[in-house]
Amino acid sequence: MNLCDKTQELISGYIDHELNQQDRQRVRVHIESCDQCRAVYEDLLAIKQEMGNLQYPECEEAQLDKIMKEPVAKGMAIIGWFILIIGFAGFMVWQLFTFYTEPSVPMWVKAGVFLIEAGVLLLLGSVLRQRLIALKTDKYKNVKF
Ligand SMILES: [Zn+2]
Repeated sequence: MNLCDKTQELISGYIDHELNQQDRQRVRVHIESCDQCRAVYEDLLAIKQEMGNLQYPECEEAQLDKIMKEPVAKGMAIIGWFILIIGFAGFMVWQLFTFYTEPSVPMWVKAGVFLIEAGVLLLLGSVLRQRLIALKTDKYKNVKF
């Protein structure tokens, strides 16, 4: 089987983004240099587009994921989480001298509000922790060959 046959066999998968990185690269390199295979690719692409079943490689979710993995966005998100947690903790401390020490507020209301706030703070903390762990492990995931 020559390179053109092999490429043309993979073109459909290439258009549908079903190939692994190696095959995708092979097809791309080949159709860039081979008129015949590029014509096959363009025809098939046109057909698939007309049929309306073209699968986009980067749906909104994948794109958002990519944007979120970008270092600046990542750093900003982490700073945002810190500000949110510190701000929320500060708000709780401020309440300690106002809301919690207010004699007219019943004890059970104070206890209820405290529990809700402690829960939110724990959740924020756990999400931030997961983000930090994901950030650390990400470094090795993005190694290119
Ligand atoms: Zn070819």
